[in-house]
Amino acid sequence: MVRKIEHFIDGTRVKGTSGRSLGVTNPATGEVIAQTPLASTKEVRAAISFAAKALPAWSALPPAKRAEIFFNFRDLLKSHQDELAPMLSMEHGKTIPDAHGEIGRGIEVVEFACGIPHLLKGEYSQGVATNVDSYNVRQPVGVCAGITPFNFPAMVPMWMYPVAIACGNTFVLKPSEKNPTVTVRIAELFHEAGLPAGVLNVINGDREAVEVLLDDPDIGAISFVGSTQIGSQIYTKGCASGKRVQALCGAKNHLIVMPDADLDQTVDALIGSGYGSAGERCMAISVVVPVGEKTADALIERLAPRVRDLKIAPYTDPAAEMGPVISAQSLERIKRYIDGGIDAGAELVVDGRNLSLQGYENGHFLGGCLFDRVTPEMDIYKDEIFGPVLSVVRTNDYEDAVRLVNDHEYGNGAAIFTRDGDAARDFTSRVNIGMVGVNVPIPVPVAYHSFGGWKRSLFGDHHLHGMEGVRFFTRLKTMTTRWPSGIRTGAEFHFRRGSDE
Ligand code: NAD
Repeated sequence: MVRKIEHFIDGTRVKGTSGRSLGVTNPATGEVIAQTPLASTKEVRAAISFAAKALPAWSALPPAKRAEIFFNFRDLLKSHQDELAPMLSMEHGKTIPDAHGEIGRGIEVVEFACGIPHLLKGEYSQGVATNVDSYNVRQPVGVCAGITPFNFPAMVPMWMYPVAIACGNTFVLKPSEKNPTVTVRIAELFHEAGLPAGVLNVINGDREAVEVLLDDPDIGAISFVGSTQIGSQIYTKGCASGKRVQALCGAKNHLIVMPDADLDQTVDALIGSGYGSAGERCMAISVVVPVGEKTADALIERLAPRVRDLKIAPYTDPAAEMGPVISAQSLERIKRYIDGGIDAGAELVVDGRNLSLQGYENGHFLGGCLFDRVTPEMDIYKDEIFGPVLSVVRTNDYEDAVRLVNDHEYGNGAAIFTRDGDAARDFTSRVNIGMVGVNVPIPVPVAYHSFGGWKRSLFGDHHLHGMEGVRFFTRLKTMTTRWPSGIRTGAEFHFRRGSDE
């Protein structure tokens, strides 16, 4: 019997009633292991109304009381890691250490949210005019919604709802329909930690569920993470219905290799950041830009054998360095890009297309692929492939490399590998990119900084978590007060500055 995944609404697991569902596949075997219920409009509205009902009491709870629940949640997450990691890997395909890494990054956001009393402190100015004081507070937006992708089913939702909920909001989360088991389990742990019913609701679904979230007047803010195609639509529709929206989207992250870079260190970095999690990370490096022909030749000579030697296996093999991609459709799409790259004239130095693992012939495995002599007009350069395919674009000098990064439509992450402080400093100040690494290939900010890209990698004004997250999930209110109230100023028909007094 195939396991039936449930929604998590008003503090309890709830069976889907729409009659629609989608098979969840173990990507290593190709087997359907569970069914995700796809919520109807009525079910989503019910989840929103429970979140709206829970809002007044939750937002009125002192932040220090909210923080106590977050401390418990953090402890429960830590003690359940060995249960959560294989649950995540079975539906996603990533290795167990990678699943632990993702859960650990989610825990970091919960730890950040434990400091909410401090994070919500406002500003106070005494005496902005005679007997007049001014101060501001950050208040919750209301019921917030999150829509999240398949590639981080634990971490990406935890980029959003811990901050939103700590700020006094209630939340409706619509995770990816491809692998929601771990997401629902984590929501349940949050309730075991003491979160009141209705504060966090997980509703499984597809486009129909998202449409309801975009239209419902009770939803005040929407946080989306996923592809640019969907994210740009969600941003436009959500803003048109008067909501605050942030949509973090696709990427094409470049790593510049300067002639003075430590090549062994660079190759290690490229193997992890290009092929870790089968390249299914929005911060994966997918383009390498060696500066100068000599650098390019030396780099490829070292990199190609390492790509050929990648240990590709299911998550159940402790030696696995990289697992399968998420679905058969995704595998086919990636292979089409590889064929297109060859047709366009790029040189496929390592071809992973014919990989077959004994006992896992129906799994969605693809060997690591490495292209050399890729040029900017090729689709394999322009598009996000979201698979274990690394493209080398050779440039003659540093200026060409910077231009390449800046001309690309995406602006999530970029890195430079060099020993030259001048080049590194120039790079960090001139690139049009949200997250920049110097000898760090995947510069994902820690939870108390903020995550987000530029250009078509992010629609909206705020990044996620850190103070940007607090700003997104709160509204600023500024009070101007006059005491004692007995003083009469008479009617005033013009604005006054404090210094006029
Ligand atoms: P996706 O855009 O297909 O799906 C994301 C979410 O949108 C899912 O919950 C999905 O159910 C929903 N959705 C899909 N189609 C929809 C539609 N037509 N209408 C309304 N909702 C819809 O993305 P994915 O394949 O799950 O994830 C991979 C993408 O996410 C990549 O592009 C990756 O770069 C991006 N991503 C970005 C970041 C970031 O922070 N910038 C982080 C992780 C992943």
